[in-house]
Amino acid sequence: MKLFIAALGTETNTFSPIPTGRSAFEDDLYLLSDASRTSRHWFAGPMREWRRLGEAEGYEVVESLSAFAQPAGPTRQDVWEELRDRILADLDAAGPVDMALLQLHGAMVADGEPDCEGELLRAIRARLGPEAIVGVELDLHCHLTDRMVSAASVVLAYKEYPHIDVDDRARDLFQLCHDARAGRTRPVVAVADCRMLGVWRTPQEPVRGFVDRMSAAEGKDGVLSLSFVHGFPWADVPEVGAKIIAVTDGDAHLARRTASHLAEEIWTLRDRTTERLLGLDEAVQMALSPPDGLTVLADVSDNAGAGSASDSTFLLRALVNAGARRCLTGCYWDPVAVRICMDAGEGARLSLRIGGKTSPMSGDPVDLHVRVLALRRDAFQTFGNGKQAMGDTVLLEADGLHLVLNALRTQTFHPDAYTQFGVALRDYDTVFVKSAQHFNAGFAPEADRVVYVGVEGSASPDFASLHLPSAARPLWPIVDNPFAIDPIRQGAA
Ligand SMILES: [Zn+2]
Repeated sequence: MKLFIAALGTETNTFSPIPTGRSAFEDDLYLLSDASRTSRHWFAGPMREWRRLGEAEGYEVVESLSAFAQPAGPTRQDVWEELRDRILADLDAAGPVDMALLQLHGAMVADGEPDCEGELLRAIRARLGPEAIVGVELDLHCHLTDRMVSAASVVLAYKEYPHIDVDDRARDLFQLCHDARAGRTRPVVAVADCRMLGVWRTPQEPVRGFVDRMSAAEGKDGVLSLSFVHGFPWADVPEVGAKIIAVTDGDAHLARRTASHLAEEIWTLRDRTTERLLGLDEAVQMALSPPDGLTVLADVSDNAGAGSASDSTFLLRALVNAGARRCLTGCYWDPVAVRICMDAGEGARLSLRIGGKTSPMSGDPVDLHVRVLALRRDAFQTFGNGKQAMGDTVLLEADGLHLVLNALRTQTFHPDAYTQFGVALRDYDTVFVKSAQHFNAGFAPEADRVVYVGVEGSASPDFASLHLPSAARPLWPIVDNPFAIDPIRQGAA
């Protein structure tokens, strides 16, 4: 029995000013065949799980590429083709394969390919034939396409946002595919289109209850697996938007009915799952007159995890102008400023131009007189069961305001992005992070409150204003009721 495994991911924000080239993968995760044995990267977690589980069940494990790039703009066509061809060449060289498991993001767009994962899966299925089992794990922020679903035997997505269940879902997928390969089940996949753009935070009600009900229904009455695909709104591609996946044991009608019911439930909950974010002035006011305890504020509009630059200065400039104190803010992607600080050394005082370098969506740079409090070379932060590289990283002080700058673009995932410098979150009244939700897993347990802030930026949460002419059907909240405009959608997955 032969098991083939590979991992390929990036999340493409088609509005991002940053192109995704080869170095974006090499800087983050790019291992040709041994990530399961050598990498601590969170995206390689499923590869570690599949090797362990596969070998325990007596499979010969053939491991291919593991590659991940920080979310940004479209991937260069030649880079995407090289990544795809690397996996397909490994598959060709593997000989007959019984089962293939793929860890894919599902929102990768190349210059000439709006559905990279669909094309990869189509090519894999064409090579393996109809009998092989092809299992696919997706980030819930994917664009689920008909091409992906029709090529896969089983497809599922992370259930949690923040993504704390990447390895759990990898184990689910292994078991589902292993059972199908052994003939114990006959998975059938159906998809329902929610026709919605949004952000759903799974620790919060009513989303928490929805996810828990979905999980509780799995493994019973013929239902094998259920996923709520949130979708990734910042991409002008045909299948952008939220969807439900239902996998049942041989019952296509049950799969379709279950997916439709869950999609209807998400649609019905839309007013309760829509949140009002703080504006810039309200966030600055909170930093100036902080409530008791520790407040963590998330700058969701400049989230590198959604393809933003992570160097925007709209909030920073306002905090500086207002004279905010006992306030920590980061992580600003600014390799030039970090390099200058590295050369100046710990304790140095200097004038530094910070952020605002990537595009007008990041605002203008902010000039500050800073003191270098601490430096870390090749820093890492925690994400889920793995690690995320930050590059060289520096903690600065400017008139009572503390800032963390780093050389390798990443969102702020975890408090250790800050506390590795020897500071504690409780040293501050307000702590700002450039992240939309992943920070929540580590920061929320330490904070008295978590507040989400929406300002200008390439990941602005103003979904109603997104320009998505390629979307193949009307979507809420761009329109109030997409089902009233286009009640019958032909060819829906
Ligand atoms: Zn995601």
